[in-house]
Amino acid sequence: MRMDCQSLFDVIGEKKAFDLSLDFGEEELYGRFPFVTPVEVNGEIENRAGVVKLVFHVKFRLSLCCDRCLKELERDFSYSFAHTLVRSQNTDSDEYVVCEDGFLDLRELTRTDLLLELPVKILCSPDCKGLCPHCGIDLNVGSCECEKKEIDPRLASLSQLLS
Ligand SMILES: [Zn+2]
Ligand SMILES: [Zn+2]
Repeated sequence: MRMDCQSLFDVIGEKKAFDLSLDFGEEELYGRFPFVTPVEVNGEIENRAGVVKLVFHVKFRLSLCCDRCLKELERDFSYSFAHTLVRSQNTDSDEYVVCEDGFLDLRELTRTDLLLELPVKILCSPDCKGLCPHCGIDLNVGSCECEKKEIDPRLASLSQLLS
């Protein structure tokens, strides 16, 4: 998705709004392909006194599974991003997005921004109890006796000595 930004660089006061949906179905994340619906992207690029500013918002839904209890879940996300666009890299700052030949790769930018913003861990709820490591029961919905049955290793060696 290359967007022509030439006039935005050339004309002070020039403005361009966009509204698109991008398909990230091929994107692998969290060990799956979570983008079940397209990512809605809308925003605006404006030349303000010679500085070209991009502001955009993204909305999307991911199909995920909880890291602790493995429950399947769908979650909505929305983020906003802002960048300054330049035609060539004249500084090392990450704030600037370089538009090669005056073109902006909006898809690639959306992708990088999104991936940086998404949480590392996905939990169905912040206090998810997870699965029992011994019997696998979902501790959010049930309980088991595994923890109680576990014998203190010091006691275990003692009982061996005694037998
Ligand atoms: Zn969970
Ligand atoms: Zn258990």
